[in-house]
Amino acid sequence: VIDECEIIIYVNDYAKKIINSENILGKNFKDVIQNNYLYSIIAHKYKKDIQEEIIIDDKKFLIKIYHIDNKKFIHFTDITPFEVYKQAKKDFVSNVSHELKTPITVLKGVIETLSLNIKDEQKLKFLNIALKRINQMDGLINDLLILARLEAQEYKVVKTQINLKGLVQSVIEDLIHVSKEKEINILNKVPNDFKINADENKLVILLKNLIENAIKYNKYGGKVEIKARKTNKNFIIEVKDTGIGIPKEALPLIFERFYRVDKSRSKNVGGTGLGLSIVKHITEAHNGKIRVDSKLGEGSTFKVYLPIS
Ligand code: ADP
Repeated sequence: VIDECEIIIYVNDYAKKIINSENILGKNFKDVIQNNYLYSIIAHKYKKDIQEEIIIDDKKFLIKIYHIDNKKFIHFTDITPFEVYKQAKKDFVSNVSHELKTPITVLKGVIETLSLNIKDEQKLKFLNIALKRINQMDGLINDLLILARLEAQEYKVVKTQINLKGLVQSVIEDLIHVSKEKEINILNKVPNDFKINADENKLVILLKNLIENAIKYNKYGGKVEIKARKTNKNFIIEVKDTGIGIPKEALPLIFERFYRVDKSRSKNVGGTGLGLSIVKHITEAHNGKIRVDSKLGEGSTFKVYLPIS
């Protein structure tokens, strides 16, 4: 705890260990802190409560700073074990995904070839069921791989200038088989010549996930609108649907891996529960943010903000 003159007025043993100094009580914080970054956080955002992760001597700490009665409470939590766990999880997902990808591709090829030569309807039906399940698994593995790579920051953001309307149109055309089934009307309302600076491959994945969800969780004969605009700071892409909506209590959770609002609503439409998690990662890889407004029974609007600079 430091007072308004930055004098340390309370310190526990653990904090002494982190700061790497025994007799620090009564001393000026600036004089004992050997980590410039840590000092800069504390000095810069003086009156603001903050929370930030920093690395001190090979360890990662979550630092929380609170202001109470002109005193500053600095609270350190060693999050190194969580980081090790997170890395192990990422490595696991990435390894497993690679090992599964090859046999699934082989199985898919074999079943597709078999289907070409079989006339018996019963046998064909079973092969189609097998193919449907394999495609589901393939989708799951692809999503896991994308996510694992995004989390491992293997995918660098390579920005180019993109004509957004054209890109949205190509995604809509890729999803035509899904939208036709439910007779969804998709309106590409992105202005002509709207240019955006972004990573094209990632933007395709982002748009595909948002538009596919807007179709999947829509009502029969519903509508999807894709719009875009520009403010001083951001490009804003909006995907709006007239679907089933998302309950308020589920809104903070839908971007979590494998989270699905309720199993029964998702069962009929397929999916992995990873789509929005991927969308969030891609947005954050561009230093952007994503917001969602939704009303149960009326529809949802996802807004992606990508900084212009
Ligand atoms: P999924 O593969 O299940 O679609 P996502 O991560 O894309 O996984 O979405 C997570 C959950 O959020 C979905 O299971 C669904 O319940 C809900 N959701 C996502 N988009 C919409 C939407 N446009 N309208 C209603 N619910 C949605």
